[in-house]
Amino acid sequence: MPHDLPKAYDPGAIEARWAEYWVQEKLFHVETPNPTHPKPADEWGTRAIGPGPEATFTVTLPPPNVTGHLHMGHMLEHTEIDIIIRWRRMSGVPTLWLPGTDHAGIATQLMVERQLAAEGKNRRDLGREAFVARVWDWKRHYGGVILQQMKRLGASVDWSREYFTMDERMSGAVREAFVRLYEEGLIYRGKYIVNWCPRCITAVSDLEVVHEETPGKIWEIRYPVIGSKDEYVLVATTRPETMLGDTAVAVNSADERYRHLHGKQVLLPLMNREIPVITDDILANPEFGTGAVKVTPSHDPNDFEAGLRNNLPQIEVINEVGRMNENAGPYRGLDRFEARQKVIEDLERGGFLVATKDYIVPLGKCSRCKTTIEPRLSTQWFVKIQPLADRAIEVVERGEIKFVPEMYTKTYFEWMRNIHDWCISRQLWWGHRIPAWHCKCGEILVAREAPTKCARCGGPVEQDSDVLDTWFSSGLLPCSALGWPESTPDLDAFYPTTLLITGFDILFFWVARMVMLNCHFMRGHKGGDVPFRNVYIHALVRDAERQKMSKTKGNVMDPIEIIERYGTDAVRFTLAAMAAPGTDIAFSESRTESYRAFANKIWNAARFLFMNVDRAQEAGVWSLAEFRATPVSASGIAGFKAETLEDRWILSRFNRVAQEIHDALENYRFHEAAHVVYHFFWGEYCDWYLELIKPRLAAENREEARAAYENLISIFEGALRLLSPFMPFITEELWQAVYDGRPPAKSIALAAYPQADSAQTNTEAETEMAILQDLIVSVRNLRAELKVEQKQRLPIEIHALEDVRDSFERNRGAVERLANVEGMTFVEQSLAKAAGARSTARFDVRVLYERKIDVAAERDRLNKELAKLTQELARANGQLSNEAFLSKAPAKVVEGLKKRRAEVEVLIEKIRAALDELEGGAAAAS
Ligand SMILES: [Zn+2]
Ligand SMILES: [Zn+2]
Repeated sequence: MPHDLPKAYDPGAIEARWAEYWVQEKLFHVETPNPTHPKPADEWGTRAIGPGPEATFTVTLPPPNVTGHLHMGHMLEHTEIDIIIRWRRMSGVPTLWLPGTDHAGIATQLMVERQLAAEGKNRRDLGREAFVARVWDWKRHYGGVILQQMKRLGASVDWSREYFTMDERMSGAVREAFVRLYEEGLIYRGKYIVNWCPRCITAVSDLEVVHEETPGKIWEIRYPVIGSKDEYVLVATTRPETMLGDTAVAVNSADERYRHLHGKQVLLPLMNREIPVITDDILANPEFGTGAVKVTPSHDPNDFEAGLRNNLPQIEVINEVGRMNENAGPYRGLDRFEARQKVIEDLERGGFLVATKDYIVPLGKCSRCKTTIEPRLSTQWFVKIQPLADRAIEVVERGEIKFVPEMYTKTYFEWMRNIHDWCISRQLWWGHRIPAWHCKCGEILVAREAPTKCARCGGPVEQDSDVLDTWFSSGLLPCSALGWPESTPDLDAFYPTTLLITGFDILFFWVARMVMLNCHFMRGHKGGDVPFRNVYIHALVRDAERQKMSKTKGNVMDPIEIIERYGTDAVRFTLAAMAAPGTDIAFSESRTESYRAFANKIWNAARFLFMNVDRAQEAGVWSLAEFRATPVSASGIAGFKAETLEDRWILSRFNRVAQEIHDALENYRFHEAAHVVYHFFWGEYCDWYLELIKPRLAAENREEARAAYENLISIFEGALRLLSPFMPFITEELWQAVYDGRPPAKSIALAAYPQADSAQTNTEAETEMAILQDLIVSVRNLRAELKVEQKQRLPIEIHALEDVRDSFERNRGAVERLANVEGMTFVEQSLAKAAGARSTARFDVRVLYERKIDVAAERDRLNKELAKLTQELARANGQLSNEAFLSKAPAKVVEGLKKRRAEVEVLIEKIRAALDELEGGAAAAS
């Protein structure tokens, strides 16, 4: 039998199979649309500006490190992107999700260096060429694990467009970008202070430095004033070894304490070097410490700037591996921390050390190897940040790029307005080697192709040994991934991309740099020069106790492990259901467990459907072969025959839900979309519609039964499509089963996303069904309170207005079946006073059951209800008499509030009456 679904829902069994199918069938490959015959933007497109890419929807995957493994942050990011991408794709827009990996310079190099260390070797033993070959080898063997994981998790990226930032084409783009910026005077070479890791022996970016508040010391040292007997200047430092490179002491020009020292010299202890007292109002703050500061231009970024302002010599005393060099006098050869000890001892011995105090030092450490960063003067390549930064600010100011949540716009501006020139060279071997060649004569040639000789003297040239910062190459995305610097059809079709979803932590390092570089190189592009139109910044995934996940705390969750237990769909749904914009997610497995139960519920519903369908087929009533899919161009559910209340109701709900999901996803309100589809599928479809329609499936009248089957399957198939972006695997499995081997598309992912049809919504039917559900639930609750046995059927009495009564009458069968009722009678008098009755604004109902009511408990219940309603009434009265509220609130809201107030007033009356009755009864009984 084709519909013999396994009894139990087992995600492990279905997910791997579909994941492989999607990749093999190249389902998510998108052809480059023909630019001369562009598809018109449809009502779902968000694009507003320019021709070309407005008809496509493109997202660049934030390229994970080639060394990386999937963590919870990726899982959230990929889930959000995939939901949006699948939804847009199903909505009929050519949709491209562009995948790739980053070569991750320092991280990858470190991996291979560790491997070498295990063999007792280091990279210098191998030499540069052999080492780089070894890294490529490593990459081929171990790289890209995360992309394999993404394939298994069904991320709907276009694998045919996968790139690696070090592959030939991307490297060409990097070289071109460097040469162009250099030719435009936007790249220069110079000596500056950089963050230096003496272990990795390279400059590292700000992002790769972790700042830790560390308990340390601050030492106060006296520098004797030359030409004065006992006078000295007191300075303080947390790194005394750097004093060996001091070239001045700075004071504030307004500081009266030091006015008489202007132009004088002090003696640098230990080195016996005379250095000047200078005035520098930026560096020396009279409010801070003694107001006098030592100046070490070669080993501190602020001192470096002060040195330039004051023409001070730069004396380096620490070398590239963190040892004192030949300028450090007797300390030469010592490790920087050994030197610190020795310097302190010598200062003390010489009577220069005044005090040693405890001090919290904001220590910078290399994020890769935890070595303390040494600010170091070195010759580096820089990108001149203006005018790139101004342009990047302008495009956001003009709304060409929008941030969601909006607060990140401010953060972006703050950063961009305080940005410095960007050091792009790294002293690594793994990465894009800088396309500059040096000659002994001093000439530097920057070129696209390697020169054979010096252009000035004809001598031999050697390529610069540095490589580029990884953010330089990833900053060229997405234009480089779409073919830049060539003018490719892909660039015309997909650039600017539509959306970027990424984390807060790389807003500056990556997002801002993409904006700067892409706006620069794509200037004049006909679709617009910005790299993307919208940036959605996703939240953090924390543990269930809202703690940040960290290896040291040991609370890191491995998404793969959780997926193995609950299935990808359940994990995706958990993340989506908790992903409210701007709110961190406290991931708890209990939520995942309940979403697995949700998947299970759908699975069981499908089994029930197929069992009945098979029966109908055997009986020759109806078969799935007759089921017609809703055409791609149609909205709502085509061919649905809304004949009964439950039909009109479910059809209306379906369309409303489709609209609500659309509205939610358009605003990245993943949590709302998830809740809406969850409630519809489980609550309305499985719990109500399935139950309500059951008798019609077995109807004597063949036409009636056929229509029932058609409707049941139509809504089910539509609901699978609604849910598919959130739970792609189970929906694929069941959708394929619905079509019984003859699906209208290769995958549900290529079927049409349901679009709301306002002609199929029906407010009356929804209201009528709500009252009917209210009655059934009331009776069930009454029975539960009376502790009636499940199987026992009981008569009920109802008092209701005429139209409600008519509706109940029409749906008598449903009430009897779903509320276990035998005999439903209508009474003229109100039942509000009757013991054990339920009152709503529209009806009173009572279950006739001979069991004594617990008067005290009933009184308690009624009193609680009364208190709640009285509060609600007071609140409503307050709002309705509040002029400010009335002037602002939409008429619809005010109308609704008035209606509700009237209802509450009726309910209060009824409860009071019931309480009176209860008191009377109790009094009579006693
Ligand atoms: Zn390091
Ligand atoms: Zn030369």
